[in-house]
Amino acid sequence: MGDPRVMTTQIEKAADATPFDETAFARLEGSFRGELVRPGDPSYDLYRKVWNGSIDRHPAVIARCTSVPEVIAALAFARRTGLVVAVRSGGHSFPGLSVCDGGVVIDLGSMKQIHVDPDAGTVRAQAGVLLGELDRATQAFGLAVPTGSVTHTGLAGLTLGGGFGWLMRKYGLTIDQLLSVEVVTADGEVVQASEAVNPDLFWGVRGGGGNFGIVTEFEYRLHAVGPMVLSGLLLWPMDEGPQVARFYRDWASSAPDELTTALLLRRAPAVDLVPEALHGQQVVGVVCCWVGPVDRGEKILEPMRRFGSRVVDLIAPRAFVDHQALLDPSFPPGIWVHSKATDVRALSDDVLNILLEHAARVTSPRSAIIAWQLGGAVARVGELDTPFGSRSSGYLVDIVGVTDSAEGFDQERDWARDCWSALAPHHAGVYVNWLMEEGERRVREAYGQPRYERLQAVKRRYDPENVFRMNQNIRPA
Ligand SMILES: Cc1cc2nc3c(=O)[nH]c(=O)nc-3n(C[C@H](O)[C@H](O)[C@H](O)COP(=O)(O)OP(=O)(O)OC[C@H]3O[C@@H](n4cnc5c(N)ncnc54)[C@H](O)[C@@H]3O)c2cc1C
Repeated sequence: MGDPRVMTTQIEKAADATPFDETAFARLEGSFRGELVRPGDPSYDLYRKVWNGSIDRHPAVIARCTSVPEVIAALAFARRTGLVVAVRSGGHSFPGLSVCDGGVVIDLGSMKQIHVDPDAGTVRAQAGVLLGELDRATQAFGLAVPTGSVTHTGLAGLTLGGGFGWLMRKYGLTIDQLLSVEVVTADGEVVQASEAVNPDLFWGVRGGGGNFGIVTEFEYRLHAVGPMVLSGLLLWPMDEGPQVARFYRDWASSAPDELTTALLLRRAPAVDLVPEALHGQQVVGVVCCWVGPVDRGEKILEPMRRFGSRVVDLIAPRAFVDHQALLDPSFPPGIWVHSKATDVRALSDDVLNILLEHAARVTSPRSAIIAWQLGGAVARVGELDTPFGSRSSGYLVDIVGVTDSAEGFDQERDWARDCWSALAPHHAGVYVNWLMEEGERRVREAYGQPRYERLQAVKRRYDPENVFRMNQNIRPA
């Protein structure tokens, strides 16, 4: 990624927004090799769907891009006609911000090139790559980029918000591995950004979401990982919840950086790995991943595994790619999800009591509370070095109300909101990629004042007209 400006197509802008301009659309069709999907087309419902089943939006056009010139052409069409733009990579935004009503979805899901350079220890990935696809390509060389915890999540949206996951305490967030990006700006220019080139933009994309342009390619630093890690899930009955949760907190607080853990409160999922007798029972769980010598990991994990009357122990040495898929069955596409998230400084007794009390009341077998332990390499990056606002938080807590369909969804959403409200005295920021559409105040909360103001300055420079607003929006003014 050398040349900072590889293409300089200037996009003409709509003088007046028109409902739908067939002439402009015909011009787009002439320059587009990928699929252009419109209402009534057989694949329309397939491609307008996003991961969260509760989102039901009807765009005017879905432009399934296969190349950067097509991204520019689709953006030019949207701007010429004044239609709203949504950018889609993996489609896993909780609030469905990668699909819009009546506008243009610029769908990058088909742009899946991955180039691993094992000698340089770097990988370039196009925006349509999913986490599992990246892991498979890099693990072929015994290497990995720290990303997230469910393999069908999009790499692009995850990276742009920060990207926490199982390698974070050892190696940091996904953004901490980012070396450069290629971006199509609101004016249709293709620019590169790195520490050396357009550093303001490079700072912005490491947490500021899709606010500054359409990122078509990411370049990351790789780390030697696995191929075997020691990882898995432990479960206890909920009536031992208070003891288990407190023991977990104290045990995790002295864990080395090789260990990343999360506390899980839910009904036991009806998946093959969990004994049938437990399905649907309220449980407290610990999920963990140790990336170091297995024998040392066994010693570190032993006290937690032996605690209380544990009913499930799925901890085992396993291939890193298999570990990455461990949570996949709990989050299939199409489930209805409402997320209420907050950071907390620590899992104090009061925080744990609130979480346990609400977990005991949950109805849906899919709803859950998950608390991810931060620290380690995440906390060693400077507070202002990236826009990510949770470096000094102790835990990221997400309360997700989940159902299989509309049935019972309102109840689960209210449960998530109640639990989140009860935690109010302990709120300490929030991870931007876990927000629903909660308004500007919450976006500001995610970044904190100095980072938000700096993001606004980057926004003013790269997208002063707020073309890219289907996101956790940073207002240019
Ligand atoms: C099942 C599940 C598990 C998750 N696990 C984790 C986890 O372990 N760690 C973690 O950090 N997060 C996690 N998340 C949150 C995740 O980071 C966000 O949902 C993220 O936005 C998903 O990216 P995507 O490309 O799939 O999303 P999309 O819905 O495609 O996009 C999300 C947002 O980013 C914008 N965007 C997408 N691609 C681009 C692009 N190329 N250029 C500019 N803007 C773009 C979109 O316009 C939209 O606003 C999880 C989410 C789900 C649903």
